[in-house]
This record gives sequence, C-alpha cells and structure tokens, in this order.
Amino acid sequence: LLTSGTSPGLHVIHIAAEMAPVAKVGGLGDVVSGLGKALQKKGHLVEIVLPKYDCMQYDRVCNLRALSVPIESYFDRQLHKNKIWVGSIEGLPVYFIEPEHPSKFFWRGKFYGEHDDFRRFSCFSRAALDFLLQAGKKPDIIHCHDWQTAFIAPLYWEIFVHKGLNSARICFTCHNFEYQGTAAASELDSCGLVSQNLNKSDKMQDNSAHDRVNSVKGGIVFSNIVTTVSPTYAQEVRTAEGGHGLHSTLSSHFRKFIGILNGIDTDAWNPATDAFLPVQYNATDLQGKVENKQALRRSLGLSSADIRMPLVGCITRLVPQKGVHLIRHAIYLTLELGGQFVLLGSSPVPHIQKEFEGIANQFQNHDHVRLILKYDESLSHAIYAASDMFIIPSIFEPCGLTQMISMRYGAIPIVRKTGGLNDSVFDVDDDTIPSQFRNGFTFVNADEQGLSGALVRALNLFKNNPERWKQLVQKDMNIDFSWETSSAQYEELYLKSVARAKASKRA
Ligand code: ADP
Repeated sequence: LLTSGTSPGLHVIHIAAEMAPVAKVGGLGDVVSGLGKALQKKGHLVEIVLPKYDCMQYDRVCNLRALSVPIESYFDRQLHKNKIWVGSIEGLPVYFIEPEHPSKFFWRGKFYGEHDDFRRFSCFSRAALDFLLQAGKKPDIIHCHDWQTAFIAPLYWEIFVHKGLNSARICFTCHNFEYQGTAAASELDSCGLVSQNLNKSDKMQDNSAHDRVNSVKGGIVFSNIVTTVSPTYAQEVRTAEGGHGLHSTLSSHFRKFIGILNGIDTDAWNPATDAFLPVQYNATDLQGKVENKQALRRSLGLSSADIRMPLVGCITRLVPQKGVHLIRHAIYLTLELGGQFVLLGSSPVPHIQKEFEGIANQFQNHDHVRLILKYDESLSHAIYAASDMFIIPSIFEPCGLTQMISMRYGAIPIVRKTGGLNDSVFDVDDDTIPSQFRNGFTFVNADEQGLSGALVRALNLFKNNPERWKQLVQKDMNIDFSWETSSAQYEELYLKSVARAKASKRA
C-alpha cells in the first residue's frame, strides 16, 4: 500500500477527521467515503488519512495492520513517533495515524468535544503531512475537510513544499462554517506554523478576535480550491448574516470558492438492498414500505392499529442549527393533526439533551410518539424506510443529507428553504418550478407558523389524495442523488487546478 502504483487518473488524498461508517459524527463522514468511492470509480487513485481513534468501528475496517516503520512528526518543539496503520474501508485504502504523544490525542473514547481539540487536530494535520512526505507520496490533490484538517493548507505551503512534498494542489471543503477551530495565536506554534507570521488579517487571524487564529480562515486563504457543500450555502456564507464572521474572507477569495451539492452513497442508502431493513422494497413495489412502517411501530411500541396513519420521521443532531424548537413544535402538531412522530437524535448541548429527555419521558408509553435520544445507524435506516414524511426545519443547513436519504426511501421531505435544502427540495405547490422537479414541502420563515403551514399541507395531501401521494413517493425514490454529478464537478475542479499549476511551472 505504501507505493501508490500507477493510475491514469489523478492521485487524490483526503485528510479528514471522519469517514463513514467507521468514524462518523455527521455528514462529513458520509462525504469522505461517498466522494472517495465515486472518484475511485472514475479511475482516480484515492487514499484517505484519518486519526486512529480508539472508538472507531473496527469491525468495518478490512485487513487492518500496523506498518513496521514509525513516522516521525514535529509537535511541541520536538519530534515524536507516529504508528501508521493501513486498512481498507469499503474498497478505499485508508491510513490511520496514531501519534505516540503523551497527550494520547485519539484515546479519548470520542471523536470531538475535548478541551484540547485544537491541539489534537493540528497535531494530526502535521503528522498526516509528515507521513505523506516520509512515505514518498506524490499526490496531485490533497483534499482537506473542515477546521480539523484545514491546517493542512498553511502547513503545506509554509513548510512542506520546502521539504519536497510539492506535487499537490490543495482543496479545502468546509462542510459547516459554524465550526471554525479558533485558539490563542500562540497555540499554532505547536504544529510548526509560526503564529507571528500567520496572525495577520490576510492570513489566519480570526476576524473578530485579533489575538486568535482561525483554522478555517487558514484553509480558505492558503488552499488552491475552496468548496462548500451547496450553491445556496456558498451564497449565504458570503453575507454578514450567514458567514459566521468569515464573509469578508470568502468574498475576497470568491474566485476560488464554489458550492457543490453533496451526493449520497446510493449503495449504502438503497431500500432495495438495505440489510438493516426487515423488508427490502423499491419504487415499483411499495408494499415493503408499509411492512417496514408496521415493523418499526411494533419494535418501538407505537400503535399499529391504523395502517394509514401518517408517520413523520426526524433524524438529526439536536443542535440549534437544526431548529430544535421547530422540531419540538412538529412533534406536538403532528400528534394534534392525527399523525405519529419518531425522532432519532442526540445532542452535544446539555440543556437541549435535557429538554428532549423531558419530552421523551412525557411520551415514554405513548401510542403515537417516540423519541430515541442516541446515535443508532441501524435504527436510522429503519426510520427512513418507515416514514411517510421527514421533517428538517433547519435554521441553516450547509447541504443536508437526510432530505436526500429520506427521498430515496420514499419519505417526503418537509424542509425550511435554506442552504442545500433549497437546492434539493422543491415545493409541490410552487408553480414557478417545473413540475418534474417538485418533490417535497418547503417553508421560508423559521417560526412555528412557517413550519405548520408546510406540515399541514403535507398531511392533507397524504390524507386526501393517496394516489397523488403515491406518485410523489415513487418520483422521489427515482431521483438520482448519487455522487455521479457532484464527483464530476470535483474532478473538473481538480483537473483545472492541476493544469493551471503545470502551466505556471512551464511559464
Ligand atoms: P450534519 O452533518 O449537520 O449532522 P447531515 O444531514 O449533513 O447533517 O448528515 C447527517 C447524517 O447523520 C445522516 O446520514 C443521518 O442519517 C445521520 N444521523 C444524524 N443523527 C443520527 C442519529 N442519532 N443516529 C443515526 N444517524 C444519525
């Protein structure tokens, strides 16, 4: 695995903090494996570099073994060793980095949320590049993701090109500008970057706290290509309201910045083959969907007396971004309007978790509402398959994957018109949109009234026009949400950037 072989395509290395299904917190994990697999299918050599977390799902890694030679990497003014592990995940070659640092950075029983996250991931980013250099890799593209590996861009151009790792263009994708990775400027020095040089307004200095550095800003400034995960979100983050303080930086780098809508992994999310489901089904045979609904009701202890009673699903991280107050409202409204509601979610925010635990207890033995407050991959599949509708009332949503997954499983999305939701869900009643694209229910205002309007319309159509509802379900299940189109856009960006680099070398 250490020799990268020859491939007619590009050599692309993703360096990331998540990869589905072994280390996934949210959409980032899905994107790294989905985009990686799609690029590999197009003939490119794709490799992934991840931290070696103690809490990964090791049973999903094939052939995991440690390399005999450790890689030396700089951190905190000294060299330390990193054990490198290799394995493959769903056919993609993956390197796992285990820093032998006294802080035991990835032995914490969780992926994020530690007091020293900035140190953990700046150390990982540094070690990842030290590994590529010492392994003699000559990638065409190094693709880093989110604040955790945005350090790669300044590290590459400030340090590694001078050491001989200089074949690559850097692509940085920000999956959510809310999370930026900031710290006191001096913390940057640990990974070898020089804070004195980089804590400047046109480099890594945080736009609102001038004694702090911002890793996402570094990713934007130092990368050759900067992307985010939908065209609408790319516009929103260039405004003062949507940019989380980075709008001016994004606007001055607008030439290299673009929004590309994510795809979904259509092998992992396929109701016709999904091994998590009690019954598989497809758009021409929807009986299986009804059976999944009955099975979920039984397993959660919900009433299954009325087969036609609509089931509304919601699967999400319970954070303010997702419109938690609107989710709460949707639970009560659905019940009032004669539907059932199932929520699967968990919250890193203690007061939100507590509030939802209260609601979960209130409905503990209820016939029509169930809240399951944990992360559960297999239950998520069962809920997508069982739901008639799926609610996503986000305040902002960079891309959102659950609307695409729910459509593939025939659950009609009810979404707030923001970010990637605005690029993928089009209201069935919106005459300004060609009818073949209309696939769900949308609302504009992030308030209870806005959500109610859309939910009531959905429930009415379900109740009053079963034939039209069925056509809508079949239409949504047949929409192509694969990575095919999006990966072609990334491929084009990569190729153009590599060509530009070659041209400027010749000049
Ligand atoms: P984000 O990245 O902001 O969390 P996305 O919609 O982009 O939101 O991606 C969410 C992904 O995480 C989806 O694949 C969804 O099914 C999954 N997910 C979210 N919460 C849970 C949960 N509690 N259990 C299982 N899967 C979850």
